[in-house]
Amino acid sequence: MTQDRHTNKRVLLTGGAGFIGSHTYVALIEAGYDVAILDNFENARRDVPDRLEQIVGTPAQVFDCDIRNTEAVQGVFAAEQFDAVVHFAALKSVPESQSNPMGYFETNCIGLYNIASAMQATGVSRIVFSSSAAIYGNPESMPIAEETPACPQSVYAQTKRVGEEFLTSLAQATPDLRLGILRYFNPVGAHPSGLIGEDPSQTPTNLVPVIARVASGQMAELRIFGGDYPTPDGTGIRDYIHVLDLARGHVLSLDALFGETGSHCVNLGTGTGYSVMDVVKTYERVSGRTIPYHITDRRAGDPAVSCAATGQAKAVLGFEAQLGLEDMCVGNWHFLNRQNR
Ligand code: NAD
Ligand code: UDP
Repeated sequence: MTQDRHTNKRVLLTGGAGFIGSHTYVALIEAGYDVAILDNFENARRDVPDRLEQIVGTPAQVFDCDIRNTEAVQGVFAAEQFDAVVHFAALKSVPESQSNPMGYFETNCIGLYNIASAMQATGVSRIVFSSSAAIYGNPESMPIAEETPACPQSVYAQTKRVGEEFLTSLAQATPDLRLGILRYFNPVGAHPSGLIGEDPSQTPTNLVPVIARVASGQMAELRIFGGDYPTPDGTGIRDYIHVLDLARGHVLSLDALFGETGSHCVNLGTGTGYSVMDVVKTYERVSGRTIPYHITDRRAGDPAVSCAATGQAKAVLGFEAQLGLEDMCVGNWHFLNRQNR
């Protein structure tokens, strides 16, 4: 794909200041897209745009906007003509979603509706949607193919499935609309500059951010949720994917929407699974720190194993992950150390 092809394609990244959005911003700029960010900075640092400027060398255009605010969203789309939207903006904590379904449906579903509605009103006909492996729930066969029936096990996963179904119905009713649904597995890692990465403002609940806090002494120990799963070491297995690979997947998805391929729904994973203990050992090695842990009860709703079938992403988008678990842990640790300097 040549850089020239995208020179005039203007893309709005909702949630573009967040973890995956900020890395995708860099990848899209490097691929030649013209990108603007929409974010309310609810879960992103205010200095992310400055950091993005340091990486790509040009100032980031940012709309400080809440996707729940219908008029504010309409205002952004009235101010500029976009060719595509990549919709990251969402709330993403599974435990928080269980206690706050109103808040999760409001941001993840009504917010998405506001974006889709503004797109329709201004003739924007391409959207990439951040979905999640969480929509599969606890499937029996591994790896998980895209045809596996959805079976969400949390409010968060329900909101993602509703988003997929809403956009799919919209695409069926709107001949011009092209839709890329990307189901991410477990994103980890950071940009090699150490300027952007995963920086949760709330207490983290995902494995690697928790391990990072333990490694840096901000948390005393890791609680491993379950040591009696039917896996080789008894701990849960996941398909961790480097955020740089994930970001590249979005470039390929947009390329497909602007090219011959058109709409698609694919997993983004590596196809390789690692256990919680594998991640602990790898993080200990790259950080040189000991990660104290103790094994507790299983976490409700957690599958033993979750690994992506990767054939469809390769066939449809030409996507294959290139980076491994060690790169992910190095990236995360490097980013964390740069923040704390
Ligand atoms: P993140 O929290 O770092 O990024 C989300 C961004 O959206 C943040 O910058 C936040 O400030 C913004 N945002 C939240 N509510 C908003 C609102 N009302 N209006 C405007 N902006 C708002 O999360 P992430 O890890 O980068 O996830 C990005 C997307 O990928 C989300 O849709 C998430 O559900 C999905 N996803 C994430 C993972 C993961 O493990 N990180 C896995 C699968 C899917
Ligand atoms: N996990 C854990 N302790 C933690 C957080 C997560 O043992 O503090 C385990 C969890 O049970 C799962 C894996 O780490 O087996 C990945 O969990 P995460 O929440 O990062 O992602 P999920 O796959 O649940 O979306």
